[in-house]
Amino acid sequence: MRDCGRRCVYCGTALDFENATLDHVHPLAKGGTHYPGNLVLACVRCNRLKSDLLPHEFFARFPWAGMNFIHYARTVHRALKRCARRAVSLAYAEAA
Ligand SMILES: [Zn+2]
Repeated sequence: MRDCGRRCVYCGTALDFENATLDHVHPLAKGGTHYPGNLVLACVRCNRLKSDLLPHEFFARFPWAGMNFIHYARTVHRALKRCARRAVSLAYAEAA
C-alpha cells in the first residue's frame, strides 16, 4: 500500500482497504507478470474500466489515467512508464 502513496494510480483517489484493488498494469491475460514492477494499486472503478486493456490502449482511451499513472505509479517498470508517456502525448496530440 505504502509504495503508491495509498492512491489509485489511475484517478488519484485516496484508497482504503475496502476500495483498493491490485491491478496488473500489463494484464495477466495478455502475458503480464506477477512481479512488483507490474503491480499497482487501483480503485475498483478504474480497475473495472481498464479490465483487460493493454496499458497503451487504456491510456490512449483515458489520457487522464495515464497522467495520474505517470505521477503516482512509483514502483512500476520504467518501460511501462515510457509506454504511458507515449500513449498520453499521442492521445493529447490527436485531441488537439
Ligand atoms: Zn481510480
